[in-house]
Amino acid sequence: MQKTNRLFENIEKLLGETKSFPTPFFLVDETLIENNLKILQHVKNKSGAKILLAQKAFSCYDTYPLIEKYLDGTTASGLYEAKLANEHFNGENHVFAPSFSDRDIKEIAKICTHIVFNSVTQLNYHYEFVKSNGLSVSLRLNPQHSTQDGGIYDPCAPHSRFGTLASNDFFNQPDTHKMLDGLHFHTLCQQGFKDLESTFDVFEKRFGEFFKKLCNHKTRNHKTYLNLGGGHHITRDDYDLDGIIKLIKKIRQTYDCDIYLEPGEAVVLNSGYLISSIMDIVNNDGGIVIMDTSAACHNPDIIETQHSYVPKIFDAKNVDLKSIRNERIYRLAGNTCLSGDIIGDYEFEKKLDVGDRLVFSDMALYTIVKGNTFNGIPLPSIYIRRLGGEIELLRQPHYLDFKSRLGK
Ligand SMILES: *Cc1c(COP(=O)(O)O)cnc(C)c1O
Repeated sequence: MQKTNRLFENIEKLLGETKSFPTPFFLVDETLIENNLKILQHVKNKSGAKILLAQKAFSCYDTYPLIEKYLDGTTASGLYEAKLANEHFNGENHVFAPSFSDRDIKEIAKICTHIVFNSVTQLNYHYEFVKSNGLSVSLRLNPQHSTQDGGIYDPCAPHSRFGTLASNDFFNQPDTHKMLDGLHFHTLCQQGFKDLESTFDVFEKRFGEFFKKLCNHKTRNHKTYLNLGGGHHITRDDYDLDGIIKLIKKIRQTYDCDIYLEPGEAVVLNSGYLISSIMDIVNNDGGIVIMDTSAACHNPDIIETQHSYVPKIFDAKNVDLKSIRNERIYRLAGNTCLSGDIIGDYEFEKKLDVGDRLVFSDMALYTIVKGNTFNGIPLPSIYIRRLGGEIELLRQPHYLDFKSRLGK
């Protein structure tokens, strides 16, 4: 199996081809996405799992015709993502949200095929309505098994609002399983197979009996399913593909159920770039580079993770400005008024100049979808490189991106 996309393949060619494009811009590469889709297809074919795109990570719907050739559908974090899939993706349309309003659920019931409730209260509240509209219904569980170190991405952290606990009386009632078509857990983030395996073990210990009851309840016209959520870094070089394939086959055989995976990241891992220009370099106890991009506006994950996430840049490595110094080490910062709008500290192979273009890699996921116009900063343009190699402009920044959200 050919694995991941090399991070900076053909970067010189990329810069050459895009020299006339105004920065900053995202470039999403369909060939690189297709490489990932082929790996996911391999997992699907060998394991029998169904795989959905989690649109939260990436929703450039111009690529959906490509993605729908390989995946079974999408999952949405609420009404708007579900609408986008309904308009642009031909496949199953799943939706999960911590809660659904009366207003949203009316539209969701018309366009979604599957709905995942976060709590028993939400399930009971909306149950009759979504069932009468023919939706397949599942409940999100909280296995209370943390496999990541307490960051903002751990749905099993203490006091988490996500998923129903095994201690809930719902699981001891004689007939509650008849309400459900499946179960769901999502606990991982950028993780390998071992963490899925240990999570599934805990799922079986805490919910195995209930799940068995669900699977043996044969009045439905489809198999019961278990959705293993997202966060599986399946398209990363070192992911244990054989491990996940074996586990899924084992679960399907043991319970006679269907399995869903709903990765976001893994679908578009390493398949986009952000190209940005150096506007100025000021000196303040080190070279401080002012870019025409911004962490706060174009890559908020940097700030949300308090810099534990640092984007990769071509020809540069992440360093700590406080501990080492030389004239090729710079702090990259954004073009906003926020003092903390810092992208990171990097050592470059050569000294930088105003006007240089820097290439950030792995910029398709959790960037374009999170863009905002704080400070009136324009959003980057979005270009797409089609499978044939030609580059197409999808959208340009517009003053209305900023203004239209602020009044009539
Ligand atoms: C975020 C999320 C996903 C996708 O996670 P990735 O880390 O992008 O794979 C899938 N399911 C749910 C419920 C999520 O919240």
